[in-house]
Amino acid sequence: MMPYRPEPFTDFSNPLHSEALSDALAKVKEELGRSYPLIIGGEEIYTEKTFTSLNPSRSQETIGLVSKADKAWAVKAIEASAEAFKTWSRVPAAQRSELLWKTAAALRRRKQEFNAWLMLEAGKTRVEADVETAEAIDFLEYYARQMIDLGERGRKELIPLAGERNELEYLPLGVGVVIPPWNFPLAILAGMTVAAVVTGNTVVLKPSSQTPVIGAQFVALLQSCGLPAGVVNFVPGSGGEIGDTLVEHPATRFISFTGSRDVGIRIQQLAANVGPGQIWIKRFVGELGGKDAILVDKEADLEAAAKGIVAAAFGFSGQKCSACSRAIVHEDVYDQVLSRCIELTNALKVGEADDFANDMGPVVDQASYDKILQYVEIGRQEGRIVTGGRALELPGYFIEPTIVADLAPEARLMQEEIFGPVLSFSRCSTFDQGLEIANNTEYGLTGSVYSLNREHIAKAKAEFHVGNLYINRKCTGAMVGVHPFGGFNMSGTDSKAGGPDYLFLFTQPKVCSELL
Ligand code: NAP
Repeated sequence: MMPYRPEPFTDFSNPLHSEALSDALAKVKEELGRSYPLIIGGEEIYTEKTFTSLNPSRSQETIGLVSKADKAWAVKAIEASAEAFKTWSRVPAAQRSELLWKTAAALRRRKQEFNAWLMLEAGKTRVEADVETAEAIDFLEYYARQMIDLGERGRKELIPLAGERNELEYLPLGVGVVIPPWNFPLAILAGMTVAAVVTGNTVVLKPSSQTPVIGAQFVALLQSCGLPAGVVNFVPGSGGEIGDTLVEHPATRFISFTGSRDVGIRIQQLAANVGPGQIWIKRFVGELGGKDAILVDKEADLEAAAKGIVAAAFGFSGQKCSACSRAIVHEDVYDQVLSRCIELTNALKVGEADDFANDMGPVVDQASYDKILQYVEIGRQEGRIVTGGRALELPGYFIEPTIVADLAPEARLMQEEIFGPVLSFSRCSTFDQGLEIANNTEYGLTGSVYSLNREHIAKAKAEFHVGNLYINRKCTGAMVGVHPFGGFNMSGTDSKAGGPDYLFLFTQPKVCSELL
């Protein structure tokens, strides 16, 4: 087995790579408007009711027409998963890992094509798209290796006892419901799905309604690499309509969810109920929202801090769970950091995501656009808009990257997840007070500290209560295997996706002790 190495990012300054992406975009544009089926038990099902996936950069452009599962199809998908579990759970781990390796290789070969889908359906710039495709490849490669390790760990880790043979085996759980968000419609969807599948489970995968076509493309890729029928059942449809059916079904054994706090809490509550005929306690793995902060000390590399803040706040239009949503800056350097952030923000070129000249694309849809603009108005009341603050007259959902300064720590802009290109600035008078402000939301996902003071760094390591803390670097950009990812408090169950413990969440260890 080759050691795991993170997938390199494409160097688009090389004209060959840039041309390859242009060619892929042209090819994908020819495929726009196609119809996509549900896939249940390996069968393609085109439903009468469909919904349309749109390009957020050009909201009149159809990406695909997608079949829509109703409650009855949701039940059928659970049943198909339960049937396939009988055989897939007995397939040797090495064979399951092989499926992931093959899929990683296939995705690597079609990297620019998947980048193109991400640019068109999710509104990612080429750099953001490429980072995501690389992350999807990493999840496949990493979990395939982790599964092999898990098999060996069972044999290695028990303490020998004379006269007995003891074995520990990590068995799969059963049927899982996988519900990913739209903001990483390839990487998170792929990571959640294949972690469950490589451990021997079968799943019903409900993609986000904003980005179902990328989900369909990934499932097709898995199928082309030998995914057996019924192991991944693909049911696009409204979460509000079929979510409860999937979660409450007595054959559902676990739910793997990534998305907003409110939907996650609802799913967890429903999953706690024991339905008729249900003989297990459902497991809930939930990665939820964030209100991530970058804290800048008075002794810090202020240029690096400003660059880190702007990149983490406005990369993918601030639509990352790890995005820097709050900059908390020591009062001695506040004006300097703020004015440099304004300069860097003003230099960002905003426009259609498939135009390579742009640094920032649209927000995902009308509902997000409306919600973000409402927050901009709240910001106008609560603080001082120092740059941005307007929608842009373009054919999609474009909002200027916006900085709201001089906010009180309790302001709504400092407490609530906005999930858009709006950065809140607040000042602190001491480093300790900065840490208090950083910790005073209900979330605890990512955070950064820029400081040259070793004592302050040590204090931040001990007291900044987030699942992923970064020192002297931005708070986005976690890499599989390098920065296992997940948050505290209302940010979720801290599953640490892309980490050495993640696969355990989809297994139940069994011990067999035989007297010799
Ligand atoms: P969302 O609105 O909660 O939706 C997430 C998924 O849940 C979608 O597939 C959605 O389907 C589905 N859903 C909606 N209502 C449901 C219900 N009642 N039952 C079952 N499923 C339901 O979140 P989002 O807007 O897609 O994603 C953004 C959020 O995800 C942010 O809060 C962000 O911080 C968080 N996030 C967290 C992480 C992390 O690792 N912690 C990573 C990425 C994103 P429909 O699309 O059909 O509604």
